[in-house]
Order: sequence, then C-alpha cells, then structure tokens
Amino acid sequence: MKKPARQSALSFKRRLLAWFRKHARPLPWRSTRDAYRVIVSEFMLQQTQVARVEEYYPRFLTRYPTVADLARARPAAVRESWEGLGYYRRAANLHRLARVVMKEHSGTIPGDPETLRSLPGVGAYTAGAVASFAYERREAAVDTNVARVLARAFLKAGTRDERRGTSTRPREIWALARALLPRSGKTAWEFNQALMDLGATICVARKPRCEICPVRRQCNTGRQAS
Ligand code: SF4
Repeated sequence: MKKPARQSALSFKRRLLAWFRKHARPLPWRSTRDAYRVIVSEFMLQQTQVARVEEYYPRFLTRYPTVADLARARPAAVRESWEGLGYYRRAANLHRLARVVMKEHSGTIPGDPETLRSLPGVGAYTAGAVASFAYERREAAVDTNVARVLARAFLKAGTRDERRGTSTRPREIWALARALLPRSGKTAWEFNQALMDLGATICVARKPRCEICPVRRQCNTGRQAS
C-alpha cells in the first residue's frame, strides 16, 4: 500500500483530534481503563446500537462487576442478563472468556493483541480495541466505521466498495490504520476513538456529511464533493 503523504496524514490527524476533543460522545466505557469493562462494552457493541448498549452496560456491570464475578456465574444467569441485546453467542463467548482469564491469566485480561486474540470471541478488531482503549497501547482498531472513513479519505475511487463506502481490501485498511497511528499510546487512544466517532456521526454509511466534516480538505472523497 502506498503510504499517505506525510503532510496530508499529519493534517488529517491534527484536525481529527481537534474535532474529537470538542465533540467526543460521552460514552460510559470511555471514562474507564479497566480492561474488563472495556471488553464488556466491545462485546455488546459488536452487533448492537450504541444507545441500546448504553442502557444495558451499567446493568450488566452491576450484576457482574468483575471478571471473577462473571466467571463464577451460571451460563443461564449470564444469558438472562444479556436479554434485550440479542445475539446470545456473544454472551456465551464473554462468559467463556471470563473463565479462561481466571484460569489461564490469573484474573487479568491481557493487553497484548496476539494473546487477546486467543480468547473466545475476540477477533482482530476487539483485540486492537482492548489493547488501545484499556491499556493505551499503540495499536490500530479497525471496525466497519473506521474502515469506511479511511477508505473514503485515503483510497482512490475504484479501490473502494462505493456502495458501502468501505475498502475492498481489508489488509490495506489495517496497514493504513497502523501507518496513521500517533506515536504515543495515549494519543493513539484518542485517534482510534475519534475515527469511530467520525464514522458514526459524520462519515456515515449511506451519505457522508462532507459539508460539515473536519477533515474534508484532507479527504479524497471530501475534496471531490466540494
Ligand atoms: S470528507 Fe466526507 S467522505 Fe471524507 S471523511 Fe469526511 S464525511 Fe467522510
């Protein structure tokens, strides 16, 4: 993959971070660096809208405040606590994960993406998200929203899936996300969260709102929409 021009990448990051510092969504899982709380939010968000997760997340954590509490629970009770969120396979995986963490990792959720990926229900995105959002490691976390933003901003038309606005080449997008990461893990945390917020609120799937986008001038699609 051709790296984005240094100047353009720098200004994309600077503008995105400035926008995020003013407009970040105040999501409850952003105020913690507790890996268990972060991983619960990531499992819930896998197939459920943010508004619904905001409702169920505190309830679930009240019932299972620690990974040890979750590991001790009966499968039927965990499933019951997940009711309303659907896709129960996630609850079963999270429960299995808690038991593996207690048994094989002394009750501490790992911070290294490779080890995270060995846990039940954890794919590349969730591993990157937990490493970045809980441990502030300098790791990329590419979900659908992030992939769409990066594809529209940096890939050329023809290498994107224009209907969905995302990339036809996931590996290329991951490489791009890594190349763009700020040097410090703390700023990488903000950068990853900012990409997600931009994808969820402005660079939306159907019709991107380029006219109000903070990185419009740094974006291949936005410049063409001018
Ligand atoms: S300018 Fe448009 S296409 Fe580019 S990132 Fe912003 S909203 Fe998305």
